[in-house]
Amino acid sequence: MGTTVTSISRRTFNTSAAGAGLAGFAITGFPAIASAEPGARIVIIGGGPGGATVAVQLKQAAPDLQVTLIESRSVHPTCFYSNLYLGGFRSFASLIQTYDGLRALGIRVLSETATDVDTAKKQVKFANGRPVAYDRLVLSPGITLKYETIEGYSEEAAETMPHAWRAGPQTQLLKRQLAAMPNGGVVVISAPALPYRCPPAPYERACMIAHYLKTKKPKSKLILLDAKRSFTKQALFEDAFRTLYKDQVELALSNEIDDNTVVRVNPETREVVAKSDRKIVADVANIIPAQRAGDIAKVAGCTEGDWCPVAFDSFKSTKVTDVYVLGDAAIAPDMPKSAFSANSQAKLVAADILAEVAGKERFPARLRNTCWSMIAPDNSVKIGANYAPGDKDGKKQLVASGGFISQTNETAEVRRQNFQESEAWYDAITTEAFARAAPAPADEPERPKRRRRRG
Ligand SMILES: Cc1cc2nc3c(=O)[nH]c(=O)nc-3n(C[C@H](O)[C@H](O)[C@H](O)COP(=O)(O)OP(=O)(O)OC[C@H]3O[C@@H](n4cnc5c(N)ncnc54)[C@H](O)[C@@H]3O)c2cc1C
Repeated sequence: MGTTVTSISRRTFNTSAAGAGLAGFAITGFPAIASAEPGARIVIIGGGPGGATVAVQLKQAAPDLQVTLIESRSVHPTCFYSNLYLGGFRSFASLIQTYDGLRALGIRVLSETATDVDTAKKQVKFANGRPVAYDRLVLSPGITLKYETIEGYSEEAAETMPHAWRAGPQTQLLKRQLAAMPNGGVVVISAPALPYRCPPAPYERACMIAHYLKTKKPKSKLILLDAKRSFTKQALFEDAFRTLYKDQVELALSNEIDDNTVVRVNPETREVVAKSDRKIVADVANIIPAQRAGDIAKVAGCTEGDWCPVAFDSFKSTKVTDVYVLGDAAIAPDMPKSAFSANSQAKLVAADILAEVAGKERFPARLRNTCWSMIAPDNSVKIGANYAPGDKDGKKQLVASGGFISQTNETAEVRRQNFQESEAWYDAITTEAFARAAPAPADEPERPKRRRRRG
């Protein structure tokens, strides 16, 4: 105990850890430090962009920490960019991230589902009762879908009417259904009320599916039934629906007269019913229900209502000591629930743990988010801001600054750059979060063979 941190300057720590995160997509980590609690046991539940980033940042900075990642799945197909797979711009294989990089760093990766947390004994448990002890616990379990909010919907019904809101077989099912539907068929997307995972994603998905329909099944139609009156990047998406997908997309927002919240479905007939009593029999029904924090957060006693309150300067749970909650599961207004946010929050959590185990001063939290949405080939829009703890409306909040958003009148070149930026971001975040080896430099393009002159 009491080892001082000597090989890390305050400035480096501050900027690389809780700082802007992925700024310019440079892969930054913490310089290695000695730990004040050698062998401190850090257990992380959830190996998405939130949990995996925490594990990697900790182990890279303090190799003598015992870092354990508990993740149900053996690989992580990313939700981010899964809409591009639906649009035909990515393969499913390109979304799959492995934990090989984490294992190579010395992180213990357990491919199991945590079923219980005893916060008094500081133990995580599995279904067989086996305990894993922790000194600090990090929860990044993502979301649980509230199937029960839509009559007739269930995990089983999602096998016919996929949500595809957790990437994996559900996303592949939705893609297969789109491929199998007739030209002239109807796709319904139901978008829930806020808060939910990735606010712009239903609209990006609408663009990606509309692009597929326009190019492959032009007589088909997509109806987006929305529980909301307005949504993020609305002008940009509406512009795309109007100019690029006028014959494909009908956007049905809710208002006082027409509430287009989907309230009932029938998986046998694929009928979708809105509160307004509008009924649509869909060829493909993509039902995205309301959501809450992943179950284990509730089991651990970290929830208040559907989500987990946290201290904004550390993302420590305000309900349970020595437990952090981040990513989609946390309440972090006005940060959207996104992979970018989860990755940025993860660096703050890692910084806080490192400060604690090294007995060092904390530094002000600085967080960041950018969400790109692809609306057509070589055409992406974006929104983003920085966030820091502060007072807003008399309450402790995360206060946004430096916000930016794409404009409807941008040139094709700007949109193309946005798209390229988003591709670079996907590569950077997955390389960093999953400690993936950087992609090998592209092979030299093959030179065209010289044609022999005949004659
Ligand atoms: C269609 C779509 C498009 C999106 N596009 C973007 C985008 O372009 N940009 C962006 O930034 N974000 C995007 N997102 C949002 C992004 O995917 C999520 O915000 C992000 O994945 C949240 O990260 P997380 O670590 O909190 O949770 P997750 O990524 O869900 O990871 C949680 C992990 O925890 C595991 N887990 C849960 N409970 C347990 C348990 N008890 N035991 C063991 N393991 C457990 C799960 O298996 C899961 O792998 C998109 C989302 C969707 C649905």
